[in-house]
Amino acid sequence: MKKELIGMTKTDLESMVKSLGGEAFRSRQLYRWLYKNLVFEFENMTDLPRDLRDRVKQVASITLPVVERERISRDGTVKVLLGLQDGQHVEMVMIPQTRAGRHRYTLCISSQVGCPIGCPFCATGRSGFVRNLAVNEITGQVLLGLLRLRNSNTFETQGSATRLTNVVFMGMGEPFLNYSAVMKCIRLMNDPDGLNIGQRHITVSTAGEVRGIRRLAQEGLQVTLAVSLHSARDEVRDWLVPLNRKYPLSELEEALRFYCGVTKRRVTLEYVLLEGVNTSRQDVASLIDFARPLLCNVNLIPYNQIEKAEFRRPSPSTVLRFQQWLKEAGVNSVVREERGGDIEGACGQLRARVCFKPGRRITGKGRKING
Ligand code: SF4
Repeated sequence: MKKELIGMTKTDLESMVKSLGGEAFRSRQLYRWLYKNLVFEFENMTDLPRDLRDRVKQVASITLPVVERERISRDGTVKVLLGLQDGQHVEMVMIPQTRAGRHRYTLCISSQVGCPIGCPFCATGRSGFVRNLAVNEITGQVLLGLLRLRNSNTFETQGSATRLTNVVFMGMGEPFLNYSAVMKCIRLMNDPDGLNIGQRHITVSTAGEVRGIRRLAQEGLQVTLAVSLHSARDEVRDWLVPLNRKYPLSELEEALRFYCGVTKRRVTLEYVLLEGVNTSRQDVASLIDFARPLLCNVNLIPYNQIEKAEFRRPSPSTVLRFQQWLKEAGVNSVVREERGGDIEGACGQLRARVCFKPGRRITGKGRKING
């Protein structure tokens, strides 16, 4: 079976090139083509000798997910449906932001096909779990996002460059259940000789996978950790985030204290506001008790409606009141601006409309570009 080049580090490429009789500097050229120049066809890697290219082609291929469909929101958010080689699908979302006249994009990527956590308010969770994504499938989303920015007129803006500045693991899946692939992708993204995305511009969002939080604390990385909390009451969280039955709030809190202690980094607590479910005085009091001892910010996310869900979006006054209660208790919070809601690209809406059955092929194949 051929090796996959996307997802290989400098060291991986060097040992492969050397094993084929090439010199080490050739592997660095290859690395630059992939991660700096975004060139994925061997024939276009013009500074590599033809015979070396042929030898690499015989043992390795370059496989990216295939863009099968795109939906563009009124606010410019782009939701992209990607086909994988085995016929499965994932989604990524590109969210534009303009600050001080500079145009930037945040890319929200997936780490698994479906999700095993099964949060009842989330379209992905309702679809079930199929498999982990491979490193090339995760890194491939970042490469495709960058390519799209480079190639598409949609992203052309007056005078100032549009850049991909942030990557968030907030698409489909629980990143810590695909830990080693996610870490490899983070290190690739962060390499100044390649994709050069700063660690502080990368966010990993977990449903509260305690072992992953503890492992991440010891990676020596400066990425941002976000936790999908959604309730600080075990009896409510057991239902909203079923992983809570395995790792109740007391264990999660202990892991977060450990994480903050080791990294000295703030964590973000994500809190989807669901009318009549987690918006009461009692809910906010529990959230305050949970958040106050931690180094954290709270992101309040008014629920985005998905089909056939029993949950409702709270009114603006409920949201404001909830935030005011937090403020009075000295807990930092922001209400996250909704992006891409009209194309179901907002938080919790991915896979809301993809016809999906676990383990079943839908359409199309991943694109094998070479080899
Ligand atoms: S909210 Fe996150 S953890 Fe929960 S089911 Fe959806 S993707 Fe999985």
